[in-house]
Amino acid sequence: MKITFPHMGTSWIAFKTLVEGIGHEAVLPPPPTKRTLDLGTKYAPEFACLPFKVLLGTYLEALEMGADTIISSGGVGPCRAGYYTQLQGRILREQLGYDVRVITFEPPRGHLLDTFRILRDLVKVSFPEFATAAWLAWQKLLALDALERESHRVRPLELDKGTTSRVLSQGIAAIEQADSVKEVRNVTADFLERFRQIPKDPEYEPLKVGVIGEIYVVLEPFVNLDVVETLGHMGVYVDRSIFLTNWVTENTFLDTFRVQAERSARMAAQPYLPELVGGHGQTILGETVLYAKRGFDGVVQLAPFTCIPEIVAKSIMPRVSKDLDIPVLTLMLDEQTGKAGIATRLEAFVALLKMRRNRLAMTRGETA
Ligand code: SF4
Repeated sequence: MKITFPHMGTSWIAFKTLVEGIGHEAVLPPPPTKRTLDLGTKYAPEFACLPFKVLLGTYLEALEMGADTIISSGGVGPCRAGYYTQLQGRILREQLGYDVRVITFEPPRGHLLDTFRILRDLVKVSFPEFATAAWLAWQKLLALDALERESHRVRPLELDKGTTSRVLSQGIAAIEQADSVKEVRNVTADFLERFRQIPKDPEYEPLKVGVIGEIYVVLEPFVNLDVVETLGHMGVYVDRSIFLTNWVTENTFLDTFRVQAERSARMAAQPYLPELVGGHGQTILGETVLYAKRGFDGVVQLAPFTCIPEIVAKSIMPRVSKDLDIPVLTLMLDEQTGKAGIATRLEAFVALLKMRRNRLAMTRGETA
């Protein structure tokens, strides 16, 4: 089979390792561009959210490159993601005439048998070879997340703007090339050391901002218009609320054994939204509460236009912001959103946070 999958940040590196490791050809989804979005927007229903459109465009580009199978994930709860792959499959086959198979992995809880059936059909190698490939792919995901986390910490402190992003790109390329767990670990240690060696301003105390929102827009820089890097270059330390390894651990491994995922965020959201509303609607409210308690200066919510869970959360967010005195900037993202407009709004937000921090420092000084 010639298998493709969604492009979501750097996760393609791990998915490529896994697909090749189970005996198939991986057709790498090209990084999304304006063409991808235009293609997806052209064939998607008008009501569809931004992730649907970008993913549909990505699949079309991968099919042009020769893919014959798409692997994606489904979803549960009151969010449209649960039937998106079926709809995308119908558009590709019935409307556009592609001979493509779409395989959907649902969250394992309640679908364990289905998951095993799909794997039995997909895996063309022995069990030890499958386990080796899966372990290597997982180690690559962990390594990618570790480097990205460190880049968020170092970027606002760097003296030579752009160094952190350059080191990160080299690290990502090295992880892609690694073909054993030992090599992945060596590369990770090497690049963490390179981050340590980047010349930094030891006196500078960056503002701290949490970035929350729907998983695809948080993880894919093309869709969020490089919000994390832009904030970093403005001298802001960013704590991204979602990393793929955490998400997979909570929503597959832990969820399968009924350990409540994202427990602390869901608990923290209770006074504001006790019900699940699908997507990340409830957890992002809880994450905002937790960021306020951890002394963060502000929160940026990334919300795809027409995403109901994010709209519900956005309508409640002013109360959370007021109660806990934490500024929140909501960025609604759609195909019309431009990078320059987002950068301007972030600049204004960061200026506001700086003023607020100075005001709070003066207040504390006066009362001390
Ligand atoms: S959570 Fe929102 S953006 Fe994500 S699939 Fe559901 S509706 Fe779309």
